[in-house]
Amino acid sequence: MPKRPIESRPVSTISLIIPVHNEEAAIAPFLEAAQEALDPLRDDGILFEFIFINDGSRDRTLDRLTKAQHGEPRIRIIDLSRNFGKEAAMTAGLDACQSDAAIPIDVDLQDPPHVIPLLIAKWREGFDVVLAKRADRSSDGFLKRHTASMFYRLHNLIASQEIPSNVGDFRLVDRQVIDALRQLPERRRFMKGLFAWVGFKTTVVEYVREPRVAGQSKFSGWRLWNFALEGITSFSSVPLEIWTYVGASISLASFGYGLLTIFKTLYFGVEVPGYASLLVSMLFLGGIQLIGIGILGQYLGRVYAEIKQRPIYIVRQNLTTQAPQDNLVSIGPRVRRRRATT
Ligand code: UDP
Ligand code: MG
Repeated sequence: MPKRPIESRPVSTISLIIPVHNEEAAIAPFLEAAQEALDPLRDDGILFEFIFINDGSRDRTLDRLTKAQHGEPRIRIIDLSRNFGKEAAMTAGLDACQSDAAIPIDVDLQDPPHVIPLLIAKWREGFDVVLAKRADRSSDGFLKRHTASMFYRLHNLIASQEIPSNVGDFRLVDRQVIDALRQLPERRRFMKGLFAWVGFKTTVVEYVREPRVAGQSKFSGWRLWNFALEGITSFSSVPLEIWTYVGASISLASFGYGLLTIFKTLYFGVEVPGYASLLVSMLFLGGIQLIGIGILGQYLGRVYAEIKQRPIYIVRQNLTTQAPQDNLVSIGPRVRRRRATT
């Protein structure tokens, strides 16, 4: 049977959201792999655009992007005024996206574009969120894998909102989910948590995490530690509240020990030695108090950042060769995919 011309078929539009920070060497291989994986989907009525967010790169990333744009008009570039971090860059991309769905994806090909057709197939079945789960992350080092798994366990133990383990930002989200995310006003954005918080009908597709194609990871141990703190403090107040119980237990134990000391003194007289136990308990309690104050500080700092209400990111320039949706909507009527029935 001859194929129907694309003009007469339902068309869905999808934006790839690609935050880039000093990635000059990764852009060309990414575009090549993405085009190879995605162009065949045009026959199924899926049209793509690439929203690159240049997150304050200091190398030739922007130059590479504008050059690539000459041969690929589906590229849009949002050039931020400085490095705001991946979470803010992704927010900028989602804010700019007007398509039926969005796929946040890393430029380093660690999130392989050939997984995208699988995400889309699930979306077309009626799921609003399709998570790409790292079934094999042996390309990440031993330390990163284990600290990541500890983080997911701790986070899900104490946070109000569980995040699926071994799922990064690589996922497909439907228009409804994007609109819901845009309603969340927080400035400090832990996207994985926010994605989980909005909910919607979700499924998972597994993939093997590839090694980085070029350049180096931007997430050092210290940055990852802060990222983990951000996640936990954004979705749990357990670290704040636990001090009530720590304090109560220590007070109770001290009270018991006090009673014991009184009785010992009454029956056996004054016991002078005790320097070591005095010193140890003082230092221990001092340490515990400082940790408690430090955790208060973590939350207070975040409250401070929120109440200042500064914008999440600032756009220096928006480089688009054609009206954002031109290459997406000119082809035919947009038909909503059918809703899921459960
Ligand atoms: N990235 C960004 N801003 C930053 C740090 C990273 O936009 O401040 C981008 C980076 O260019 C890449 C993605 O976020 O496209 C993931 O970064 P990376 O590969 O360094 O993280 P990893 O995979 O090592 O966790
Ligand atoms: Mg990477």
